[in-house]
Formats: sequence, structure tokens, C-alpha cells
Amino acid sequence: MRIVLLGAPGSGKGTQSKFLVERYNIPQISTGDLLRAQVTQGTPLGLEAKQAMDNGQLVSDAIVLGMIRDRLGEADAQNGFILDGFPRNIPQAEALDVMLAEIGKPLQAAMLLDVPFDDLMRRLTGRRTAVQSGMIYNIYTNPPKQEGICDVSGEALVQRADDNEDTVAKRLHTFETQTAPLIEFYDQAGKLHRINGQRGMDVIFNDFCAILDPLKA
Ligand code: AMP
Repeated sequence: MRIVLLGAPGSGKGTQSKFLVERYNIPQISTGDLLRAQVTQGTPLGLEAKQAMDNGQLVSDAIVLGMIRDRLGEADAQNGFILDGFPRNIPQAEALDVMLAEIGKPLQAAMLLDVPFDDLMRRLTGRRTAVQSGMIYNIYTNPPKQEGICDVSGEALVQRADDNEDTVAKRLHTFETQTAPLIEFYDQAGKLHRINGQRGMDVIFNDFCAILDPLKA
């Protein structure tokens, strides 16, 4: 199964990706996670990407497309993938279509997690993540049992560097101007599915499965 998750920062793409990985046994490919790993390792690519990330802007298409091309070539992606946070603009979406056409495996669905703008700021500034276990919490809507500690691994939760109010406002602006046009792009391609992202994560996941189960095979 080859799918794209579309949605503003904080719409729940990462959380749903984790569920989808388990159900369909395909990898989540998050360009944000791949870029953060480069930043943490202090690679030249990471250093170049960091400035754009700290400013809530998009990292250059050349960097992101190179990363995606490499990642899609790995063994675990041959039976499908969940793209989370990629593509982020029309040129990336067009480049993805070309890459997938080359291997004769076109994208099957673009899943849009729809969340009203007002809700996103609170979701993002309240987000806390566990780096090792990959769990995602929210101090307002989905807190861990013990404050600041992951329920699964017991590790300390961290706030992403770009989840501060200033950068969040810029990221939401970037979404509106550059990423939102992808909704129309995939709608015209007949691949768009809209999902109301303002409900419980289990209910949302059920909607995903109803759409994606028939695509298995
Ligand atoms: P995310 O974890 O998806 O919210 O991404 C965090 C940051 O990484 C974004 O604000 C961008 O600066 C950068 N980023 C992630 N994915 C992309 C992409 N597909 N194209 C350009 N920049 C990206």
C-alpha cells in the first residue's frame, strides 16, 4: 500500500502513522524525523536543514527529494509505505509521481487529516514526544500517566525545538501557503480522502482502515 498523509502540523499524522505501521506492516517515512536525525547527528545536511526548520520554513526540495529517493529504495519500502510530512509542496508531489511512475507503483491514496486552524496551535504547543519509544503525548488532551514521563518506556518526554509559539505560527503559515494546495492536487488526481481529525484517535483510525483495507493486496 502506497499512501500519503496530508495535514497541517499537529493534525495527528504522526500518531495515525504509528497505528498504520502496525496494521499494514509497512514503514512510516517521515521527512521531519529523517531531518531531525540529521540535525542531531550534526551532518552537513543537518546543518543546512536546521536553519529552515528553526524558522518554520521548508527545507530545500533538493535535500528532501534526495532523502526520499534513498529511503524509498530501501528493502522495507518495497511492499509499500506511509509518507508522513512529504510531499509539502506541488514540486515535491510532482517529483514523487515521477519517481513512482519510474518503478510502475503509483500512489494509491492521499489521506487528509482535517483539523480547524484554531485547534492546531494548542495541539502543537502542548505536544511532548518520547524519542526512544516514538510515543506522542499532549499535556492538554492526551497526558501521560506521570507528568513528563513516557507510559511505555519510562523515558523523559521532550518538547520539539520547533513547537514553540513563534515557530508554530510560522509553520502553520507555511502549511497554508505551500502545502494546502496539495489538497486540490490530489483531489484532481482522484486520490484524496478527507478525514475529520477532530475526534478520538481510535475513531479516526477506524475511518482510515475503512478506506485503506480494500487497497491491501
Ligand atoms: P514535521 O516533523 O513534518 O513537522 O517537519 C518539521 C520540519 O522539517 C518542517 O517544519 C520543515 O522545516 C522540515 N520538513 C519536513 N518535511 C519536509 C518536506 N517534505 N519538505 C521540506 N521541509 C520539510
